[in-house]
Amino acid sequence: MSVDLVVMNAKLVSPRGIIEAGVAVKDGKITAIARDIHLPDGDRKIDARGQYVLPGLLDGHVHTFLPPESPSTGTRAAAKGGLTTMFEMPGTQFGCFNIGDFKLKKETMERSAYVDFCIHAGCASGYPGELTNMWNAGATGAKFFVSSAGSKWPQTFDGEIIERFKEISSFGGIALIHAENDSILRDNLKRLRLEGRKDYAAHIEWRPKISEVEAGKRMIDYLEATSCRGMIVHTGAPETAWYAAEARMKGVKAYIETCPQYLYLTEDDVKRNGPWNKFAPPPRSKSDLVEIRQMLQDGWIQTIATDHAPYGIERKEAGLEDIFEAPNGMPGLETFLPLLLNGVNEGWLTLPRLAAISAENPAKLYGILPKKGILQPGADADMVFVDINKEVTLTNDDQITACSWTPYDGMKVKGWMTLSIIRGEVVMEDDQVLSREGSGKFVPRLYA
Ligand SMILES: [Zn+2]
Repeated sequence: MSVDLVVMNAKLVSPRGIIEAGVAVKDGKITAIARDIHLPDGDRKIDARGQYVLPGLLDGHVHTFLPPESPSTGTRAAAKGGLTTMFEMPGTQFGCFNIGDFKLKKETMERSAYVDFCIHAGCASGYPGELTNMWNAGATGAKFFVSSAGSKWPQTFDGEIIERFKEISSFGGIALIHAENDSILRDNLKRLRLEGRKDYAAHIEWRPKISEVEAGKRMIDYLEATSCRGMIVHTGAPETAWYAAEARMKGVKAYIETCPQYLYLTEDDVKRNGPWNKFAPPPRSKSDLVEIRQMLQDGWIQTIATDHAPYGIERKEAGLEDIFEAPNGMPGLETFLPLLLNGVNEGWLTLPRLAAISAENPAKLYGILPKKGILQPGADADMVFVDINKEVTLTNDDQITACSWTPYDGMKVKGWMTLSIIRGEVVMEDDQVLSREGSGKFVPRLYA
């Protein structure tokens, strides 16, 4: 028997460990994982030269419908970053509140995506039944805002949030929750504005840790009350993650997502860099950062994603004089894996754990395992090779995202992606994107 592709001389990484083996691929799917001498002949052979090969990475939280970014430029940046499946998250630019929005988003992305993609639904006020419709069309989750998301996202308050959690619980879906206390944020903003505050520290004072922790705990209580699965997204507060852990011990299906910015940036960076490090919730103290790293490695935090929100330089520069004028969000697709590999070299993350938090866990939570997120026979042949010793300085000039900047400009990292494969096709090699616009496929949720 001959196959289409054989990857040999690799160190395959899974959450369960690392093995020296190769991968055989036919018709885009993995057909065998075996010692090299037991692999079948392949029409194409790729020698991994002893490098680590991870399952294709998932990014569970991406906003590519955010000018100057588009699904085309954003998914291309994802390909360059070694990501193979991305989850488009609704934002204020494209809410995805009903089945019509969902279909339009799917068709737009099918024309433009360079990597495979899933679509999360959005929950805004006044769309009863639409989460069910989008779930039936293959949505992988539903985004909620507890605080205001601006005028384009009709705000849901607690009564409606609980009703929608019940709806999601009825079909076994998952709620993805931006948790910040709306009243605290509104009062703080009013006070800071009256005081004439425009400085960078005002962003931290506007959105204090207690507003994040209180809302996170309250939402976890609502998940318990409604038997709904849920994930508190972009978490940088250890208190929320510990509360979710306690809840899980009681059987509550509450999970935690964090992002690289909570593993590398603190409130001091916001005070120093202003709009370039402005996102919400903001990062916290150095000791919180250390604790989040530890909780991620030890299993108390289940997933990591970018929350790629690529506002352009001009929009961000508006905050140089008045921090409130800059939008919340930063790009992250191209720096995601390098920052995690750098963590492996710094010793606070292991490669098997990296495979869990950025591949297998999100695939399982979002219902696309074992098609994605794992290297095993029957799975899509998605993988990313890494040179764990390669040192690179991250620069704005090297970013291909349409926003063309990175919050990590000038930072030296150790560990780099060298090649990635989606469904048996090489999509990135040595920082060059080889896949085509529209080659990425929609991946519907496979199960609840
Ligand atoms: Zn987001």
